[in-house]
Amino acid sequence: MVGIVVVSHSADLARAAVDLALQMANGPAPRIEIAAGTADERLGTDAARVAQAIEAADDGEGVVVIMDLGSAILSAELALEFLPEPGIKTRLVPAAFVEGIFAAVISAAGGAQLDAVARDAEEALEAKAAQLDQAQLSQSQLPGDTVAPAISRPAIIAVTTVVNPDGIHARPAALIVQTLASFDAQVTIATDRSEPVSARSPTALMSLGARAGDVLRIEADGAGAATAVDRIVALIRDGFGELVRFGWPSSPDRAFDGRRPEPVEGPISDPIGVSPGRVVGPALRLPDPITEPDPTASLPEAERPAAVERLASAAADVADQLRGRVRAAGTVGELLAATAAIATDPELLADASMRVRERGLTPERAVWEAMEVAADSLREAGSRQALRVSDLYGVRNRIVALLTSRSAAGVPDPGYPFILLTVDLAPADAAELDPARCLAIVTEEGGPTSHTAIIARSLGIPAVVAARGATTIADGTVLLVDGSTGELITEPTIDQRATATTALRSRERLAGPGRTADGHHVALLANITAIEDVAAALECGAEGVGLYRTELCFMDRVTVPPIEDQVTAYRTVLSKFGGRRVVVRTLDAGSDKALPFLGHADEPNPALGVRGIRTAAAYPQLLHDQLKAIKEAAEAESAEVWVMAPMITTVAEVRSFSQAVREAGLPTIGIMIETPAAALQAEQVLTEVAFVSIGTNDLAQYAFAADRHSADLASLNDPWQPALLRLIEMVTSAAAASGKPVGVCGEAAADPLLALVLAGLGISSLSMTPAALAAVGRGLASVTLEDCRLAARAACDTDSPASARRIVAEMLRVP
Ligand code: PEP
Ligand code: MG
Repeated sequence: MVGIVVVSHSADLARAAVDLALQMANGPAPRIEIAAGTADERLGTDAARVAQAIEAADDGEGVVVIMDLGSAILSAELALEFLPEPGIKTRLVPAAFVEGIFAAVISAAGGAQLDAVARDAEEALEAKAAQLDQAQLSQSQLPGDTVAPAISRPAIIAVTTVVNPDGIHARPAALIVQTLASFDAQVTIATDRSEPVSARSPTALMSLGARAGDVLRIEADGAGAATAVDRIVALIRDGFGELVRFGWPSSPDRAFDGRRPEPVEGPISDPIGVSPGRVVGPALRLPDPITEPDPTASLPEAERPAAVERLASAAADVADQLRGRVRAAGTVGELLAATAAIATDPELLADASMRVRERGLTPERAVWEAMEVAADSLREAGSRQALRVSDLYGVRNRIVALLTSRSAAGVPDPGYPFILLTVDLAPADAAELDPARCLAIVTEEGGPTSHTAIIARSLGIPAVVAARGATTIADGTVLLVDGSTGELITEPTIDQRATATTALRSRERLAGPGRTADGHHVALLANITAIEDVAAALECGAEGVGLYRTELCFMDRVTVPPIEDQVTAYRTVLSKFGGRRVVVRTLDAGSDKALPFLGHADEPNPALGVRGIRTAAAYPQLLHDQLKAIKEAAEAESAEVWVMAPMITTVAEVRSFSQAVREAGLPTIGIMIETPAAALQAEQVLTEVAFVSIGTNDLAQYAFAADRHSADLASLNDPWQPALLRLIEMVTSAAAASGKPVGVCGEAAADPLLALVLAGLGISSLSMTPAALAAVGRGLASVTLEDCRLAARAACDTDSPASARRIVAEMLRVP
């Protein structure tokens, strides 16, 4: 493909323009290199950088260079002189910056040659000019490719109607061009108001100005004409994946909004936004799981041994598939590794095999029954364990699908962007999510700290949980989803659609240290939950690590990891943050992080059981060894290591922890405030330690006596609850009096609006999933500390999370 180089004074501008073009392009993209800013990161252009970018973008087909203004042009011209001999075929194109990049990307992706890509970029503005009627060009005066040469005797003529409300705008135009790329056919499209234009030119297609309800006439000739027209008609009838129903703009509004109790069709109640971003797109339900295998089918004796073998090999294949995705799946990986272990669970396999051997069940039926028994015992074990039932069923469905040669249920790929509706999201399904395709996730189950929420945030996908009845919404229904407020609107009006912005992009980089517009520093740090989060934190520009969850090194072990293994694990993380703060949390075992070697499985009420620092009282050597390993790792690396304990409830626990850390020789000691007891005693606690970090996930759970994983109680665990904010305020007031820093490392820190309230309450660092850093940084930079303080006061004084959100959103109109 022809390569593209974007030259700009501003790296942010160039990245945003390229991002926009890539999002609209939907498919494979050409090589795009950015040469923006000066070597010392200031605004400007640099000829040497442009030359390097041209070399990097070229794969033999040549390079189109698009520049912004002034010295960008001079730098690009100069760069040509720096290129090695023989020269790379290069075209500097006088194109409109945004439109030019978009047209060049589409054209190059469609396989066009260098001059055609250059021309498409150059003419890109004409569509806009024609549409606005500013260039006063009649259609017949449009040059080049825009008006297509008439097809004298078309082999194929098709007539179809535009059904998507926004008509043929940039994305649909790109889809048509991409679809045509592989066909040998000359194709034109016309409306009843316009002349035919070439269907190979995205800008010409946009210049048609075709809207919902317009009738299009498609004419084609050439060897591939018939199939090409079929595909284009199918795209248009499908509404380019944006809508499936004609007549959408006039259909009545139906709002699903937790704050308004009059929703129709599907009793959605109290949906909670758990991953920010406001998007619009067509709904798509996770397909129904594999159906129950026949209980009456019986295998003859002679066939049973082979059936048992097939069963074992299908289970092993599923475990391999899941493990294979662990690397690629970021934070999801940790959850996925646990799911993979289900597939090879020896007890489950023994039970299923016995059902084949002794009762002659088919292997798929045997797996089905064995998993059902296991699911029942998880349900009996209490709500926390019941959460794993969906993981179990996810694995079961995959094994049954393999055994019956069916494609496994899982995240569908309809070929266009969609909003996923599902009862719950198993980690195995989450691993298949492509943030470029999945615009948002809406689940019926789950709470603000559930797996779905954690996964969605780590992938930067907006998400709403606890949306009861969401899966009754028909596929293709257009939805507006707000992952901050939990708002869900079916068939939004055009005005409502216009309020949609975009999701967080999972690898967007923080622009610089967290600062309000008036320069107040709030450190923006990353939470490290899975090893992949380290790379994400670095890529997203985290100032350091505010919560390193060391459970990572203890999970999926049957015995306590030796000190040397721990040192290696901790050094892996510390080595990446030389000179920066890394807050290492000692083992937070128990409850949702039960460890087999600590006998956790038997607790009747694990969230109120031996968890967090309480395990240190029961197993002092465990804490002692961990601190020794942290000390050794800290000495070997240059990161600034702080250590803190989870789940503190008494001042005595703080003293005993601090003594243990001091004895280990680690200087910066802190604790987590995750229980109301700790918040209430913040003043005394702060006399014992150098810092505190508020774990809002657990603090909400214990303050509201509401299981943090329960969908039914999700609205109680909403971090905007004014009572939770007041607890935080108690801690920040005590911290202010002591002059010691207080951070937040619960999920509340990742909500860009709530983060400002936290800053206003006096929080000095916010630690979050890396994907959220850039948006939180942007929000902070757009307000002053006083704005945040006023918003925080107002939020604390409201009487519900919904009004706290609304008032703060109105007060701080953040971008
Ligand atoms: C919290 O409770 O807010 C927290 C950060 O700890 P975890 O989510 O690991 O329990
Ligand atoms: Mg916690």
